[in-house]
Parts: sequence; structure tokens; C-alpha cells
Amino acid sequence: AKRVKFENISKVFVTDKNRQVKAVNNINLDIQPGEFVCLLGPSGCGKTTTLRMLAGFEVPTDGHIFIGDENIERLTPDKRDTAMVFQNYALFPHMNVFDNIAYGLKLQKLPKEEVEARVEKILHLMKMEEFAERVPSQMSGGQQQRVSLARALVMEPGVLLFDEPLSNLDAKLRLHMRDEIRKLQQEVGITSIYVTHDQSEAMGLSDKVVIMKDGVIEQVGSPTEIYQKPANSFVANFIGRANILEAVIKEVGEDGYTIDVHGVPYSVEKSKEYQLGDKVEIVVRPEAIEVSEEGNFTAKVGKSMFMGAHHEYEVNFFGKPLEISLNNPKNKSMVAVDESLRFSLDAASIHIL
Ligand code: ADP
Ligand code: MG
Repeated sequence: AKRVKFENISKVFVTDKNRQVKAVNNINLDIQPGEFVCLLGPSGCGKTTTLRMLAGFEVPTDGHIFIGDENIERLTPDKRDTAMVFQNYALFPHMNVFDNIAYGLKLQKLPKEEVEARVEKILHLMKMEEFAERVPSQMSGGQQQRVSLARALVMEPGVLLFDEPLSNLDAKLRLHMRDEIRKLQQEVGITSIYVTHDQSEAMGLSDKVVIMKDGVIEQVGSPTEIYQKPANSFVANFIGRANILEAVIKEVGEDGYTIDVHGVPYSVEKSKEYQLGDKVEIVVRPEAIEVSEEGNFTAKVGKSMFMGAHHEYEVNFFGKPLEISLNNPKNKSMVAVDESLRFSLDAASIHIL
């Protein structure tokens, strides 16, 4: 497993009409050996371009990339100690599974016995021995994607790259493959960089999530940090659902504030430096609102939906919609549209932006 470092990396594409597209704008990123990192962001934010620069398929316009201690910008893709798993599998259709997996090793002119031993080891690791003789057209999408993963793993790369590898699979298989990828990665301990626009995939897989928007990194953190302490409203809304409310700083303490939310005081943790009287925005997750008879607020219900495991409300909170998600709902707590609901915010879950 190797360390990966991006230093002030930018990429500008020039289109046929001579227009400049700034796909990646001065990103810095330090990935530790063995870490599983997801690049997460909406379509077009520069995830694939970042990955392709690391793999050597695109040349950065500016900046430096290191794998281990080596500056790799001048190395061709095959010299970079990376292997990539693609969305469309990219298997050779006329070769069987064994030969598909063996292909890269044969290119390296390794002795036949070693090639066979390594392919067999990977087939065993991935429980795919019985597929060795099949060609891609005789397999499902999920099976083909496992072969494509095996083909990358067999190279024993220092860094494993994934570009939306599960996008072509149905929802259930995607969950299953996600768990399988995570398990395998932990077993072999390869530094892994995984591009996705699917937040639950990123949350489920990563040690560290990198949130990107318009070619820029918005936040880097563990899934918990990103969810509980989003750096800004973009991150808050991109990861899960968020209510963003206005509040005023009423008291400044050693490591906390008292804030006023529409007349109700809440003690909250300090995230940034604010002064008495400052107007701030706070993030309150829908599930961090407690419905109770003793609640501080009363609001009229605009939407009321029973979802099975939880119940969702939208209420009118001082003229704006507020989403509330009640876990493990019981019949008695259901309130119909146009009736009023009492609730409080959970102070411990409030995050000041
Ligand atoms: P993502 O993978 O996050 O969806 P990409 O890295 O593919 O985003 O693209 C980032 C931006 O760069 C987009 O605006 C895209 O249109 C543009 N782009 C990507 N590749 C090229 C290219 N070869 N020529 C011109 N523009 C490109
Ligand atoms: Mg992409």
C-alpha cells in the first residue's frame, strides 16, 4: 500500500471550440497507505479527471502528484503502480475469465507458473474458481464487475482506483458488491481511491470522504465528520438531508455558545469563532428533531408520510419548510396534515456553519 499526494493540481481542458474548461481547480489531497478514500460530488465536478490524472490518462495543467515518495507526472500509466476498475468493466469479450485476469501479468512477461498461481489465488480470494472458463457474455453484470476487480487486484498495485464501478448494477447487487469491495480492500489493505456520485456508497465504503464541487474540494473528513460537522450548506445538503435554520449568538463560552433559535435558547458546540450578536446558520438533521408533547415549538403539518421504518413530516417553521423524521414511529405519534405538531431540536446535534 502506498501513500498518494496531490499538490496544487489543476486541469484545464480546451474544447474544439477553443473554450477552456477548468475541470479541476487547485486541489490538495494527502491519502495515507491503506486508506479507502471516496471522491464524492455531483456529475461534472471533476472526480474522474482527478482519478485519470493519478492513473496517467490525463496530464495535469499544473501541480504535482506523488505515489509513495515518487513524483509520477512523467511516468506512463503502466509505470505508476496503479490499477483501475471501470464502470463498464472493460473486459476482453473473446477471452475467458482466467485469461482476462492473467492478461496484465502476461504483458509483464512473468513466468507461466507464477501467472497461474497468482490468477488462481485471486479467483480463490473472490470465490470465482468455477467461472474461470466462462467468457464475459456468459456472466451477469455483477459477475463481470467482479472479474474486472479481480483483474485489477491480481496486479497487486500500490494504489487501486475505481471509477463508479457499481453504477451499471441494480440497487440490491450494488449493496452486495459494496460490502464485498470493502471486505476485500480490508483483507488486502491496498490504498484505494473510489469515485462515486452516490453518497450512501461513499459513506459505507470510506475511511475518508472528499466532497467535490466545480473542480474544488469542499471538505475532507470521515463519514461521521462530514455528516455531523459539514463545512458549509453545500456539504450539508449533499450528504443526507439538512434543515438550515437561522440563529443568533446569545452567549460566548469557553468551548460553546448559547444560541437563540426563534426565541428558544440552545447550548451548542463551538465550530468556528463567532461573536455576541452574530447571525449564524445552523444545520439540523431531520432525525435530530424530537417530537414530544413538551416540545418548544408548535408548527402546522404540511406533509405527513408513513415510510415504515420512519415517519416523515414537513412543517411550516416560521414561514419555511422544516423536515422532521421520526424513527420507529408508533401510531400515537402520527399527526395529520393541517394539525399541529410539537417538537424540540436536539441541542447535541446542532452544528453551526
Ligand atoms: P465527474 O467525473 O465528476 O462527473 P469529470 O472529471 O468527468 O467530472 O469532468 C469535469 C469537467 O470537465 C466537466 O465539466 C466535463 O465536461 C469536463 N471534461 C472532462 N473531460 C473533458 C475533455 N476531455 N474535454 C473537455 N472537457 C472535459
Ligand atoms: Mg466521472
